[in-house]
Amino acid sequence: MRTDASCPFCPDGEDCLHLFLSCPRAQSFWTHLQLDLTAVIDIEQMWIVNPFLESNQRIRTTVLTCTLWNLWKCRNAKVFRSEDESNLQVAARCHDDLLLWSNRCSTASDKSKLVEWSNFFIA
Ligand SMILES: [Zn+2]
Repeated sequence: MRTDASCPFCPDGEDCLHLFLSCPRAQSFWTHLQLDLTAVIDIEQMWIVNPFLESNQRIRTTVLTCTLWNLWKCRNAKVFRSEDESNLQVAARCHDDLLLWSNRCSTASDKSKLVEWSNFFIA
């Protein structure tokens, strides 16, 4: 069992910024999604930079949260089950989660947008 704060994917230390942005594992996933996050220097900035170029704030926040949530689950698969998930697996889970979460939208328009975004991850 790991007792330090080292990253499960690389020799660097693990913190929030590393886990979601600077770790080669995270960068691989962002590249898989064809999103350029090189200008992002902290996690809070991700909501401002709007890497998904989504104008609706509710949708933007949901898609970004879903993506970070699934990077976290990818990390946990490695830490707790010694499983290396592929980018396709992580993306498929983003797709599934957004479809599920779309059922909680208060408007048909938001639901439709989330369904569209779910397809982005399996395109
Ligand atoms: Zn790392």
